Amino acid sequence: NLSEKLDKAFHILKGHGKITEINVAETLKEVRRALLDADVNFKIAKDFTARVRDKAIGQNVLTTLQPGQLLVKLVKDELVDLMGGDVAGVNLSGNPTVILMSGLQGSGKTTFSGKLANYLKTKKNKKPLLVACDIYRPAAINQLHVVGKSIDVEVYSEIENKNPVEIAQNAIKYAKANGFNLVIVDTAGRLAVDEEMMDEIARVHQAIQPHETLFVVDSMTGQDAVNTAKAFNDRLNFDGVVLTKLDGDTRGGAALSIKSVVNKPIKFIGTGEKMDAIDAFYPSRMADRILGMGDVVSLVERAQAQFDEEEARKLQKKIAKNQFGFDDFLAQIQQVKKMGNMKDLIGMIPGASKAMKDIDIQDDAFKHIEAIIYSMTPEERSKPTLIDTRRKNRIAKGSGTKIEQVNQLMKQFDQMSKMMKMMQGPGGKQMMKMMGG
Ligand code: GDP
Ligand code: MG
Repeated sequence: NLSEKLDKAFHILKGHGKITEINVAETLKEVRRALLDADVNFKIAKDFTARVRDKAIGQNVLTTLQPGQLLVKLVKDELVDLMGGDVAGVNLSGNPTVILMSGLQGSGKTTFSGKLANYLKTKKNKKPLLVACDIYRPAAINQLHVVGKSIDVEVYSEIENKNPVEIAQNAIKYAKANGFNLVIVDTAGRLAVDEEMMDEIARVHQAIQPHETLFVVDSMTGQDAVNTAKAFNDRLNFDGVVLTKLDGDTRGGAALSIKSVVNKPIKFIGTGEKMDAIDAFYPSRMADRILGMGDVVSLVERAQAQFDEEEARKLQKKIAKNQFGFDDFLAQIQQVKKMGNMKDLIGMIPGASKAMKDIDIQDDAFKHIEAIIYSMTPEERSKPTLIDTRRKNRIAKGSGTKIEQVNQLMKQFDQMSKMMKMMQGPGGKQMMKMMGG
């Protein structure tokens, strides 16, 4: 779950005031990938990251104490902004309030008409009337009747009438005469945008002048949603968007794309087939959802570790060939020191914490380790097996440490080399990345 991940990411960043550099470009590349994974339109994702980068640089992320944290926050704020900031309500003026549904066939208009009627009936004490204007399929009229029955809301339909404009107008008259203060007009859709459908809904729209026109879109349609939204908006200038089928693992990137293209608020989401599976749209929650796909933690990790792919590859080769030496060990330690508390980092890698348990690398222990390694000759560093007792004594003297400390380091080094070799699997790769070059 994303908020846990964020907490963890922030926790890791805490106390890492020494990190003064962050690879913003690399991180934003990850953000962009996350957006694309969430079905955000390519150009929108690109513009988005460019904007965050400008802001990040403007805010001196490069010198701030907790750059990763700030960057994640910037990304999230920008997402929330893009998706509309505050929660947008539905216009309930007029008596009766007239709400028109638009959208492609299968987008969820009929289902959502029922959900909205039920929602406004229970939350706003409205007396709704559902209107069946999908005159092409008898089954569609029937479907709305089934929906209406399940929520105890009356449905207006005219089986013989093939003119949706008339039906809608008659329904409003009927509502006025019978004390309904909310009329929800369900319409026909096509499988794809076509002129006939657009003309028809535009005529209904023109005739009944709804207080609220909602565009219903299946969030699973991904990139296509943008074009559809644009086509409907060009004709209807709708007031808001309903994103359906956000249950399951639908990624919701469509929300961001649609909002960017038509600049209309997303007002509701549908999260299931049942009548109570409706929710107001919260930009902040959707931002979490979109970010969750990109695994913010790994993104922050990467930025922190200043991953240098080339170096890590070289190192892996060395390990594979048994050429891992004290120079590399020293480089690792320095990298670790740069990153801060190693135990926190190791704790994030599944399985690694166990392997690392015995290797006690305390911050103050680094000083000794470094001193010892500096007292080794280059030859000894690259070929640790050369280091016999005589050499150990010399190294201890040279580094101002005790021979036990040298022995301990040799042991640690040995364990570390073994572990490095062990970590050639997936978890290990991650570890290598984090340890950098
Ligand atoms: P319409 O053609 O636009 O009227 O779409 P329908 O309301 O008939 O919905 C098409 C299908 O999508 C139906 O099987 C619905 O049960 C289903 N559906 C609608 N909204 C949701 C939703 O939020 N979640 C899920 N899982 N299914 C939905
Ligand atoms: Mg329908």
